[in-house]
Amino acid sequence: MALQDYLRDMEGCSRCSSCKWVPFNQVKSWRFAKNCPSVTRHNLHAFSGSGKMIMGLSMVSGRSELNDTVTEIIYRCQLCGACDTACKVYRDDIDLMDVLLALRAHCVEQGQLIPEHMLTIDALKREDNVFGEPKARRGDWAEGLDVKDAVGEKPQVLFHAGCRYSYDPDLRETVRGAVRLLRSAGVDLGIAGADEACCGGRAFELGYQGESENFADDMVSRVKATGASVLVTACSDCYAAFNYLYPRMGKELGVELYHITQYLEKLAGEGRLRLRQRVPKLVTWHDPCHLGRKSEPFTGEWKGDKLLRPVTMKRTGKKGVYDAPRNVLKSIPGIELVEMERIKGYAWCCGAGGGVLEAFPEFAAWTAAERIEEALATGAEALVTSCPWCLRIFRDAVEETGALLEVYDLTELALVSAGEGVLAGGAAR
Ligand code: SF4
Ligand code: SF4
Repeated sequence: MALQDYLRDMEGCSRCSSCKWVPFNQVKSWRFAKNCPSVTRHNLHAFSGSGKMIMGLSMVSGRSELNDTVTEIIYRCQLCGACDTACKVYRDDIDLMDVLLALRAHCVEQGQLIPEHMLTIDALKREDNVFGEPKARRGDWAEGLDVKDAVGEKPQVLFHAGCRYSYDPDLRETVRGAVRLLRSAGVDLGIAGADEACCGGRAFELGYQGESENFADDMVSRVKATGASVLVTACSDCYAAFNYLYPRMGKELGVELYHITQYLEKLAGEGRLRLRQRVPKLVTWHDPCHLGRKSEPFTGEWKGDKLLRPVTMKRTGKKGVYDAPRNVLKSIPGIELVEMERIKGYAWCCGAGGGVLEAFPEFAAWTAAERIEEALATGAEALVTSCPWCLRIFRDAVEETGALLEVYDLTELALVSAGEGVLAGGAAR
């Protein structure tokens, strides 16, 4: 839908500023009471969810025009969705995230482009991944693992690595460990390797919605060609694209879909994954935005007055994947979980999303450092998550700030507990 289709949402904003805060009944301290990295960092209402809607309303009403300043404000936002979740506590007739997405699509339509994002889109068009790395090398991360070729050898489970796990050399052992872990539980899995491609979710968030739809169509054909009945992805961004964005676009993958945290929970429940080794650690869990609020299933498009929209069709950010990773963590002997102040639907973003890492790296790093401080305040030894983008930026932030905090992917701790790996140098081997 175009920006003008959200006129009622934008007009409906009561300027209450609740979108800047964790809902007040959830606040534990002043230090961690804010929820929006954009307005917290830039300290001007325009950067909040409400401020962006006011700019959208002004443009749609013909009172102002899109320019470089407005474009930059629109893109200095991780699209983390925290504003939408907070607004929905009070106003379930406003779809703030949809307005933020429509604003970006409007920028692209009007030719107001961010140079770094143009590079990402160019990389996607050339090599089917957001980094512009050679598509023929996408499966190199699995070298020597002797994993099935999903296209030729027809495994039951297709393991989708995603762009960052496929190409980030520092995260290679993490994703290799995830495959070893699944195989130790007897899962018949394969990867598409060089035949895997980007999910297209990043293109959608950057405002290139047509490009994103092409990637979705392509992904549907690629997944169908494998004949797999189950798709497991280790990437939260891909999971949100498959679980929310594709149904929103009317695309069907035709498989049972799991994020790896959900699949591990299922395997453990069935007794196939045995987490027996002690991993004595006090940890805290970071909810990735794409695994939490942004993966909440698509509930259909409501065409009438949003005040009359049935409850079942409201996306509130509360139905993301919050329990599965916590249940897996708690089932690892020796692990003690201590929660941060902002969790689940109200979690603070890692900083990497929405194209911020590419275009505004200093803002991304500041956002990550804020989360590291919140994790340290719990007294935890380690921050655990399950998203390659969060992992990347948190590990960089710890290195940058010198914080005494280990950063793990959940699969790394599970691998050690399953007796398939050891922790060394802040990662599982
Ligand atoms: S919480 Fe919702 S209604 Fe209130 S200012 Fe923010 S966007 Fe507007
Ligand atoms: S999506 Fe996140 S960063 Fe963007 S305005 Fe909303 S809360 Fe702020």
